[in-house]
Amino acid sequence: MSIFSKIINREIPADIVYEQENIIVIKDIFPKAKTHLLIIPKKEIATINDLQEDDRWLLADMFFVAKKVARDLWIEEWYKLSFNVWEKAGQEVMHIHLHLLSNI
Ligand code: 5GP
Repeated sequence: MSIFSKIINREIPADIVYEQENIIVIKDIFPKAKTHLLIIPKKEIATINDLQEDDRWLLADMFFVAKKVARDLWIEEWYKLSFNVWEKAGQEVMHIHLHLLSNI
């Protein structure tokens, strides 16, 4: 089970910013910007390369959640979204997550 699944299951603590049926948003424990959030599907998918056709709407939901959270936090005029894919690109946690970073 990934560290993010443990956070989703409330087995380890995290600063939860937003949650809905299929997605959770937490603050990154080692922020690389003034605001650094992780948008995480509750379904444990190891990497973007492991996505299945059935995950299409889940991915879309992740971006809609990013938009909502950015608006709610008043950072919608300046933010970046990114996925790291595999270790060489910096992926440490094998449970897909969308980084949302802003320096507003
Ligand atoms: P990756 O490098 O896999 O793209 O991103 C993983 C991110 O998760 C990193 O930015 C790291 O700081 C964050 N992270 C790792 N473990 C934890 C944790 O236990 N709690 C929280 N909130 N963030 C974590």
